[in-house]
Amino acid sequence: MDLETQAVRAGQVRSQFGEHSEALYLTSSFVFDNAAQAAARFSGAEEGNVYSRFTNPTVTMLQERLAALEGAEACLATASGMSAILATAMGTMKAGDHVLCSASVFGATVQLFGNILGNFGVQSTFVPGAGVAAWRAAIRPNTRLLFVESPSNPLTEVFDIAALGALAREHNALLVVDNCFCSPALQRPLALGADVVVHSATKYLDGQGRVLGGAVVGSKKFINERILPFLRTAGPTLSPFNAWIILKGLETLGIRMAAQSARAREVAIWLETHPAIERVFYPGIDSHPQFTLAKRQQDSGGAIVSFIVKGGREAAWRAIDATKVVSITANLGDTKTTITHPASTTHARISAEARAAAGIEEGLLRVAVGLESVNDLKEDLARGLVR
Ligand SMILES: *Cc1c(COP(=O)(O)O)cnc(C)c1O
Repeated sequence: MDLETQAVRAGQVRSQFGEHSEALYLTSSFVFDNAAQAAARFSGAEEGNVYSRFTNPTVTMLQERLAALEGAEACLATASGMSAILATAMGTMKAGDHVLCSASVFGATVQLFGNILGNFGVQSTFVPGAGVAAWRAAIRPNTRLLFVESPSNPLTEVFDIAALGALAREHNALLVVDNCFCSPALQRPLALGADVVVHSATKYLDGQGRVLGGAVVGSKKFINERILPFLRTAGPTLSPFNAWIILKGLETLGIRMAAQSARAREVAIWLETHPAIERVFYPGIDSHPQFTLAKRQQDSGGAIVSFIVKGGREAAWRAIDATKVVSITANLGDTKTTITHPASTTHARISAEARAAAGIEEGLLRVAVGLESVNDLKEDLARGLVR
Protein backbone atom coordinates (compact mmCIF):
# COMPACT_ATOMS: atom_id res chain seq x y z
CA MET A 1 0.00 0.00 0.00
CA ASP A 2 1.05 3.59 -0.50
CA LEU A 3 2.37 5.66 2.38
CA GLU A 4 -0.79 7.78 2.61
CA THR A 5 -2.89 4.67 3.08
CA GLN A 6 -0.53 3.07 5.58
CA ALA A 7 -0.45 6.30 7.60
CA VAL A 8 -4.15 5.96 8.37
CA ARG A 9 -4.59 2.18 8.19
CA ALA A 10 -1.46 0.21 9.07
CA GLY A 11 -1.25 -1.63 12.36
CA GLN A 12 -4.82 -1.19 13.55
CA VAL A 13 -6.26 -4.04 15.58
CA ARG A 14 -9.94 -3.79 16.53
CA SER A 15 -11.29 -5.08 19.81
CA GLN A 16 -14.52 -7.09 20.17
CA PHE A 17 -16.38 -3.73 20.33
CA GLY A 18 -15.60 -2.87 16.71
CA GLU A 19 -14.39 0.66 17.42
CA HIS A 20 -13.55 2.63 14.25
CA SER A 21 -10.81 4.78 15.80
CA GLU A 22 -7.85 3.05 17.43
CA ALA A 23 -8.49 2.15 21.06
CA LEU A 24 -6.43 3.59 23.90
CA TYR A 25 -5.48 0.79 26.29
CA LEU A 26 -4.60 2.67 29.46
CA THR A 27 -3.57 -0.28 31.57
CA SER A 28 -0.32 -1.17 33.25
CA SER A 29 -0.90 -4.94 33.27
CA PHE A 30 -3.06 -7.63 31.64
CA VAL A 31 -5.05 -10.42 33.29
CA PHE A 32 -4.69 -14.12 32.63
CA ASP A 33 -7.37 -16.81 32.50
CA ASN A 34 -5.52 -18.92 35.02
CA ALA A 35 -2.14 -19.53 36.66
CA ALA A 36 -0.96 -21.79 33.84
CA GLN A 37 -1.59 -19.05 31.26
CA ALA A 38 0.29 -16.54 33.41
CA ALA A 39 3.25 -18.90 33.49
CA ALA A 40 3.06 -19.49 29.73
CA ARG A 41 2.95 -15.75 29.01
CA PHE A 42 5.92 -15.09 31.29
CA SER A 43 7.98 -17.89 29.77
CA GLY A 44 7.13 -16.73 26.25
CA ALA A 45 5.53 -20.10 25.39
CA GLU A 46 2.29 -18.21 24.70
CA GLU A 47 2.17 -14.87 22.90
CA GLY A 48 0.20 -12.07 24.52
CA ASN A 49 0.40 -8.99 26.66
CA VAL A 50 1.76 -9.21 30.19
CA TYR A 51 2.77 -5.78 31.37
CA SER A 52 2.95 -2.42 29.56
CA ARG A 53 6.70 -2.10 30.08
CA PHE A 54 6.92 -5.09 27.68
CA THR A 55 4.00 -4.61 25.30
CA ASN A 56 0.71 -2.70 25.14
CA PRO A 57 -1.83 -2.97 22.28
CA THR A 58 -1.94 0.80 21.61
CA VAL A 59 1.85 1.03 21.58
CA THR A 60 1.98 -2.04 19.31
CA MET A 61 -0.39 -0.37 16.83
CA LEU A 62 1.91 2.66 16.66
CA GLN A 63 4.99 0.46 16.21
CA GLU A 64 3.37 -1.49 13.36
CA ARG A 65 2.26 1.70 11.64
CA LEU A 66 5.64 3.44 11.90
CA ALA A 67 7.46 0.30 10.73
CA ALA A 68 5.17 0.23 7.67
CA LEU A 69 5.85 3.90 6.91
CA GLU A 70 9.63 3.42 7.18
CA GLY A 71 9.46 0.25 5.07
CA ALA A 72 10.92 -1.71 7.99
CA GLU A 73 10.33 -5.14 9.48
CA ALA A 74 10.07 -3.92 13.05
CA CYS A 75 9.86 -0.93 15.37
CA LEU A 76 9.91 -0.31 19.10
CA ALA A 77 8.52 2.89 20.58
CA THR A 78 10.37 4.67 23.37
CA ALA A 79 9.59 7.35 25.95
CA SER A 80 11.41 10.07 23.99
CA GLY A 81 13.76 10.55 21.06
CA MET A 82 16.74 10.52 23.41
CA SER A 83 15.68 7.18 24.90
CA ALA A 84 15.52 5.78 21.34
CA ILE A 85 19.14 6.85 20.83
CA LEU A 86 20.10 5.55 24.28
CA ALA A 87 18.44 2.17 23.58
CA THR A 88 20.30 1.92 20.27
CA ALA A 89 23.62 2.67 21.96
CA MET A 90 23.00 0.34 24.92
CA GLY A 91 21.86 -2.48 22.68
CA THR A 92 24.84 -2.33 20.34
CA MET A 93 27.87 -1.19 22.36
CA LYS A 94 29.88 -2.21 25.39
CA ALA A 95 32.83 -0.61 27.18
CA GLY A 96 35.73 -0.17 24.77
CA ASP A 97 33.50 0.18 21.69
CA HIS A 98 33.52 3.29 19.57
CA VAL A 99 30.81 5.45 17.99
CA LEU A 100 31.45 7.77 15.05
CA CYS A 101 28.95 10.57 15.29
CA SER A 102 28.38 13.56 13.08
CA ALA A 103 29.44 16.80 14.78
CA SER A 104 26.18 18.35 13.56
CA VAL A 105 23.67 16.53 15.71
CA PHE A 106 21.17 17.49 18.39
CA GLY A 107 22.97 18.85 21.48
CA ALA A 108 21.69 16.11 23.79
CA THR A 109 23.00 13.44 21.42
CA VAL A 110 26.49 14.94 21.72
CA GLN A 111 26.13 14.88 25.53
CA LEU A 112 24.86 11.30 25.53
CA PHE A 113 27.66 9.82 23.43
CA GLY A 114 30.46 12.09 24.65
CA ASN A 115 29.74 12.36 28.39
CA ILE A 116 27.13 9.90 29.66
CA LEU A 117 28.25 6.85 27.69
CA GLY A 118 31.86 8.02 27.95
CA ASN A 119 31.54 7.37 31.72
CA PHE A 120 30.84 3.72 30.87
CA GLY A 121 33.89 3.35 28.63
CA VAL A 122 32.28 3.99 25.25
CA GLN A 123 34.58 6.01 22.99
CA SER A 124 33.21 8.62 20.63
CA THR A 125 34.52 10.74 17.77
CA PHE A 126 32.55 13.64 16.34
CA VAL A 127 33.14 14.04 12.62
CA PRO A 128 32.77 17.54 11.20
CA GLY A 129 31.10 17.87 7.83
CA ALA A 130 29.33 15.48 5.51
CA GLY A 131 32.34 14.38 3.44
CA VAL A 132 32.61 10.57 3.44
CA ALA A 133 36.45 10.72 3.34
CA ALA A 134 36.57 12.25 6.84
CA TRP A 135 34.28 9.46 8.10
CA ARG A 136 36.47 6.83 6.51
CA ALA A 137 39.58 8.34 8.11
CA ALA A 138 37.98 8.39 11.58
CA ILE A 139 36.71 4.81 11.60
CA ARG A 140 38.48 2.38 13.98
CA PRO A 141 38.53 -1.40 14.37
CA ASN A 142 36.25 -1.03 17.43
CA THR A 143 33.73 1.29 15.70
CA ARG A 144 30.25 -0.18 16.14
CA LEU A 145 27.99 2.69 15.14
CA LEU A 146 27.98 5.50 12.60
CA PHE A 147 25.37 8.08 13.62
CA VAL A 148 23.98 10.96 11.55
CA GLU A 149 21.02 13.27 11.33
CA SER A 150 20.08 13.97 7.74
CA PRO A 151 19.22 16.77 7.38
CA SER A 152 21.03 17.77 10.55
CA ASN A 153 19.84 19.99 13.34
CA PRO A 154 20.12 22.98 12.95
CA LEU A 155 22.25 23.47 9.82
CA THR A 156 20.33 21.05 7.57
CA GLU A 157 23.50 19.29 6.40
CA VAL A 158 22.65 16.32 4.20
CA PHE A 159 24.61 13.04 4.45
CA ASP A 160 25.09 10.48 1.72
CA ILE A 161 23.21 7.61 3.34
CA ALA A 162 24.17 5.01 0.71
CA ALA A 163 27.89 5.84 0.97
CA LEU A 164 27.93 5.89 4.78
CA GLY A 165 25.89 2.68 4.89
CA ALA A 166 28.44 0.97 2.64
CA LEU A 167 31.31 2.30 4.79
CA ALA A 168 29.61 0.96 7.93
CA ARG A 169 29.10 -2.49 6.39
CA GLU A 170 32.73 -2.63 5.24
CA HIS A 171 33.74 -2.27 8.91
CA ASN A 172 31.07 -4.46 10.46
CA ALA A 173 29.38 -1.42 11.98
CA LEU A 174 25.81 -0.10 11.72
CA LEU A 175 24.63 3.15 10.15
CA VAL A 176 22.00 4.81 12.33
CA VAL A 177 20.03 7.71 10.83
CA ASP A 178 18.04 10.10 13.00
CA ASN A 179 15.16 10.74 10.56
CA CYS A 180 13.57 13.42 12.70
CA PHE A 181 13.70 16.32 10.21
CA CYS A 182 12.18 14.49 7.25
CA SER A 183 10.04 11.79 8.84
CA PRO A 184 9.15 8.80 6.65
CA ALA A 185 6.82 11.06 4.69
CA LEU A 186 9.83 12.68 3.00
CA GLN A 187 12.70 10.19 3.42
CA ARG A 188 13.06 6.45 4.06
CA PRO A 189 16.69 5.90 5.15
CA LEU A 190 16.50 2.09 5.29
CA ALA A 191 15.79 1.93 1.55
CA LEU A 192 18.71 4.32 0.97
CA GLY A 193 21.19 2.08 2.82
CA ALA A 194 20.87 2.76 6.58
CA ASP A 195 20.63 -0.13 9.05
CA VAL A 196 18.63 1.60 11.77
CA VAL A 197 16.35 4.64 11.94
CA VAL A 198 15.74 6.51 15.18
CA HIS A 199 13.00 9.05 15.74
CA SER A 200 12.00 11.76 18.09
CA ALA A 201 8.26 11.20 17.72
CA THR A 202 7.92 14.38 19.77
CA LYS A 203 8.50 16.27 16.54
CA TYR A 204 6.70 15.62 13.22
CA LEU A 205 5.21 12.22 14.07
CA ASP A 206 2.98 13.75 16.74
CA GLY A 207 3.20 16.98 14.81
CA GLN A 208 1.23 19.11 17.21
CA GLY A 209 3.62 19.56 20.12
CA ARG A 210 1.62 17.50 22.59
CA VAL A 211 3.70 14.58 23.84
CA LEU A 212 7.22 13.19 24.02
CA GLY A 213 8.00 9.95 22.28
CA GLY A 214 10.57 8.14 20.22
CA ALA A 215 11.17 5.02 18.17
CA VAL A 216 13.86 2.67 16.90
CA VAL A 217 13.17 1.09 13.50
CA GLY A 218 15.07 -1.71 11.77
CA SER A 219 15.16 -5.40 10.97
CA LYS A 220 13.20 -7.86 13.10
CA LYS A 221 16.46 -9.49 14.21
CA PHE A 222 18.03 -6.17 15.24
CA ILE A 223 14.95 -4.94 17.09
CA ASN A 224 14.30 -8.24 18.89
CA GLU A 225 17.88 -9.04 19.79
CA ARG A 226 19.36 -5.57 20.40
CA ILE A 227 16.61 -3.16 21.41
CA LEU A 228 13.88 -5.23 23.05
CA PRO A 229 16.02 -6.70 25.88
CA PHE A 230 17.26 -3.24 26.90
CA LEU A 231 13.85 -1.53 26.65
CA ARG A 232 11.78 -4.07 28.54
CA THR A 233 14.42 -4.36 31.27
CA ALA A 234 15.57 -0.76 31.66
CA GLY A 235 12.08 0.62 31.04
CA PRO A 236 12.12 3.76 28.84
CA THR A 237 9.07 2.47 26.97
CA LEU A 238 6.35 4.70 25.56
CA SER A 239 3.17 5.27 27.54
CA PRO A 240 -0.03 4.05 25.83
CA PHE A 241 -1.52 7.54 26.03
CA ASN A 242 1.43 9.09 24.21
CA ALA A 243 1.38 6.23 21.71
CA TRP A 244 -2.28 6.93 20.97
CA ILE A 245 -1.60 10.62 20.38
CA ILE A 246 1.31 9.84 18.03
CA LEU A 247 -0.67 7.12 16.25
CA LYS A 248 -3.37 9.65 15.41
CA GLY A 249 -0.68 12.20 14.52
CA LEU A 250 0.70 9.83 11.88
CA GLU A 251 -2.63 9.93 10.03
CA THR A 252 -1.95 13.53 8.92
CA LEU A 253 1.85 13.20 8.60
CA GLY A 254 1.94 13.24 4.80
CA ILE A 255 -0.25 16.27 4.31
CA ARG A 256 1.42 18.17 7.13
CA MET A 257 4.92 17.51 5.81
CA ALA A 258 3.94 18.53 2.29
CA ALA A 259 2.22 21.72 3.40
CA GLN A 260 4.88 22.73 5.93
CA SER A 261 7.72 22.00 3.48
CA ALA A 262 6.09 24.12 0.79
CA ARG A 263 5.81 27.02 3.24
CA ALA A 264 9.39 26.54 4.45
CA ARG A 265 10.68 26.66 0.87
CA GLU A 266 8.86 29.96 0.28
CA VAL A 267 10.26 31.41 3.50
CA ALA A 268 13.80 30.26 2.54
CA ILE A 269 13.58 31.83 -0.92
CA TRP A 270 12.34 35.08 0.60
CA LEU A 271 15.04 35.14 3.30
CA GLU A 272 17.76 34.69 0.67
CA THR A 273 16.85 38.01 -0.90
CA HIS A 274 16.58 39.83 2.43
CA PRO A 275 19.43 42.33 3.03
CA ALA A 276 19.65 41.57 6.77
CA ILE A 277 20.43 37.90 6.09
CA GLU A 278 23.95 36.61 5.58
CA ARG A 279 23.16 33.03 4.64
CA VAL A 280 20.23 30.60 4.41
CA PHE A 281 20.41 26.83 5.01
CA TYR A 282 17.58 24.94 3.34
CA PRO A 283 18.07 21.66 1.42
CA GLY A 284 15.17 22.42 -0.95
CA ILE A 285 16.83 25.36 -2.75
CA ASP A 286 19.83 25.23 -5.05
CA SER A 287 22.04 27.46 -2.86
CA HIS A 288 22.29 24.51 -0.45
CA PRO A 289 25.69 22.80 -0.85
CA GLN A 290 24.07 19.34 -1.01
CA PHE A 291 20.99 20.30 -3.01
CA THR A 292 21.52 17.48 -5.54
CA LEU A 293 22.03 14.85 -2.84
CA ALA A 294 19.00 16.11 -0.93
CA LYS A 295 16.93 15.88 -4.10
CA ARG A 296 17.99 12.26 -4.50
CA GLN A 297 17.28 11.25 -0.89
CA GLN A 298 14.31 13.41 0.08
CA ASP A 299 10.91 14.08 -1.46
CA SER A 300 11.27 17.77 -0.52
CA GLY A 301 13.46 20.08 1.55
CA GLY A 302 11.52 19.63 4.78
CA ALA A 303 10.07 22.27 7.07
CA ILE A 304 13.16 23.59 8.86
CA VAL A 305 14.90 26.73 7.63
CA SER A 306 18.03 27.99 9.36
CA PHE A 307 19.69 31.31 8.58
CA ILE A 308 22.43 33.60 9.78
CA VAL A 309 21.39 37.13 10.61
CA LYS A 310 24.01 39.83 10.03
CA GLY A 311 25.13 41.29 13.38
CA GLY A 312 25.63 38.21 15.55
CA ARG A 313 23.71 37.32 18.71
CA GLU A 314 22.32 40.82 19.25
CA ALA A 315 20.71 40.93 15.79
CA ALA A 316 19.47 37.33 16.10
CA TRP A 317 17.84 37.99 19.48
CA ARG A 318 16.30 41.20 18.11
CA ALA A 319 14.67 39.21 15.29
CA ILE A 320 13.30 36.70 17.81
CA ASP A 321 11.99 39.34 20.19
CA ALA A 322 10.19 41.25 17.43
CA THR A 323 7.99 38.29 16.45
CA LYS A 324 4.33 38.27 17.42
CA VAL A 325 3.07 35.14 15.66
CA VAL A 326 5.81 32.52 15.81
CA SER A 327 6.53 30.84 19.14
CA ILE A 328 9.83 31.37 20.95
CA THR A 329 10.46 27.78 21.96
CA ALA A 330 13.06 25.10 21.41
CA ASN A 331 10.65 22.49 20.05
CA LEU A 332 10.18 21.83 16.35
CA GLY A 333 7.85 19.78 14.19
CA ASP A 334 4.70 21.53 15.34
CA THR A 335 1.88 22.97 13.24
CA LYS A 336 2.74 26.22 15.06
CA THR A 337 5.91 27.84 13.69
CA THR A 338 8.75 28.01 16.21
CA ILE A 339 11.94 30.09 16.32
CA THR A 340 15.11 29.15 18.18
CA HIS A 341 18.58 30.60 18.76
CA PRO A 342 20.61 27.35 18.87
CA ALA A 343 23.84 28.84 20.28
CA SER A 344 22.12 29.94 23.51
CA THR A 345 19.55 27.13 23.84
CA THR A 346 19.71 23.67 22.21
CA HIS A 347 23.49 23.84 21.72
CA ALA A 348 24.40 25.99 24.76
CA ARG A 349 25.67 23.07 26.85
CA ILE A 350 28.31 21.97 24.37
CA SER A 351 31.66 23.78 24.45
CA ALA A 352 32.24 26.93 22.40
CA GLU A 353 34.87 25.07 20.35
CA ALA A 354 32.49 22.20 19.57
CA ARG A 355 29.83 24.75 18.66
CA ALA A 356 32.22 26.56 16.32
CA ALA A 357 33.31 23.24 14.78
CA ALA A 358 29.66 22.43 14.14
CA GLY A 359 29.08 25.87 12.55
CA ILE A 360 26.59 27.07 15.17
CA GLU A 361 27.29 30.78 14.84
CA GLU A 362 25.96 33.47 17.17
CA GLY A 363 23.79 34.93 14.41
CA LEU A 364 22.18 31.59 13.55
CA LEU A 365 18.42 31.19 13.89
CA ARG A 366 16.35 28.06 13.27
CA VAL A 367 12.74 28.37 12.17
CA ALA A 368 10.56 25.26 12.11
CA VAL A 369 7.78 26.29 9.75
CA GLY A 370 4.24 25.30 10.71
CA LEU A 371 0.89 25.69 9.02
CA GLU A 372 0.29 29.44 9.36
CA SER A 373 0.05 31.48 6.15
CA VAL A 374 3.39 32.26 4.54
CA ASN A 375 2.50 35.94 4.30
CA ASP A 376 1.92 36.19 8.04
CA LEU A 377 5.17 34.35 8.70
CA LYS A 378 7.21 36.59 6.42
CA GLU A 379 5.67 39.70 7.94
CA ASP A 380 6.39 38.39 11.43
CA LEU A 381 10.03 37.58 10.69
CA ALA A 382 10.57 40.83 8.78
CA ARG A 383 9.63 42.89 11.87
CA GLY A 384 12.96 42.35 13.60
CA LEU A 385 15.21 42.03 10.54
CA VAL A 386 16.72 45.49 10.21
CA ARG A 387 19.23 46.01 7.46
C1 LIG B 1 14.39 16.62 19.53
C2 LIG B 1 15.37 15.78 18.86
C3 LIG B 1 15.87 14.64 19.49
C4 LIG B 1 15.49 14.24 20.89
O1 LIG B 1 14.15 13.92 21.01
P1 LIG B 1 13.32 14.04 22.37
O2 LIG B 1 11.99 13.49 22.00
O3 LIG B 1 13.31 15.47 22.75
O4 LIG B 1 14.03 13.21 23.38
C5 LIG B 1 16.76 13.86 18.78
N1 LIG B 1 17.15 14.18 17.54
C6 LIG B 1 16.68 15.28 16.90
C7 LIG B 1 17.15 15.59 15.53
C8 LIG B 1 15.78 16.12 17.54
O5 LIG B 1 15.35 17.23 16.93
